[in-house]
Amino acid sequence: MIKLVIRLEPSTGYVISGEPSPDRKVEFNASIFYSYPYINPSTIKGFLRSAAVYGYPDVSCEILSSKTIISNIDRIKKKIHNEEQIRLSFMCSDIEDLLENRNSREASVYLEVLGDIIRKLKRPCKVCRVFGNGSVKGKLRIIYQIRPLNTTEIKGLKFSREYKENREGLSVMMSKDPIEFTVLCEDKECQEVIKRAVSVINDSVVRLGRFKSRGFGIVNAKIVSMST
Ligand SMILES: [Zn+2]
Repeated sequence: MIKLVIRLEPSTGYVISGEPSPDRKVEFNASIFYSYPYINPSTIKGFLRSAAVYGYPDVSCEILSSKTIISNIDRIKKKIHNEEQIRLSFMCSDIEDLLENRNSREASVYLEVLGDIIRKLKRPCKVCRVFGNGSVKGKLRIIYQIRPLNTTEIKGLKFSREYKENREGLSVMMSKDPIEFTVLCEDKECQEVIKRAVSVINDSVVRLGRFKSRGFGIVNAKIVSMST
């Protein structure tokens, strides 16, 4: 077992949240179990996974399938008329589902486009092997002690859609607290993927939480310690 302690240092505030409250304020994540603002370990796992996906563009199911779908989008649109129903990416387990339902109309549309990718892609792909997917159990465990976070309210954000509805803009609760967690890796492949994910985070390719396109959620990641 390889143990990596990772620390995320935000350079802009991050917003981990559910839905806006009726007074048009985006609250920070809280629940009936924890009455204070907090982060779920699954949020941290999802963030690391996104970074890993961008770290392995040539072997990740999500990137390969989405690239192929985008370049064949007109072909797909001719067969699936409701554009909202078009799926833009497939994970390894989704591909298994497609193959199992190959006779359904919808699956056959995607299989026609993704055939080459599916033949070439080693499934589960590197990212799914490490993070788990569908019935594939991952090779890592995230250990994060849930604790209350300090939050600050940012008022009057002029996000175009919100601004049209409310001239005062949107209020958002954000945090700038560092996040420290431990990753337990089963093997070297897992360790390698986590190290690459950390460097992708530091390139600001992925951001944490909501409103990423508005500049929230830029964090630096540091491996504080690594031991076997
Ligand atoms: Zn995969």
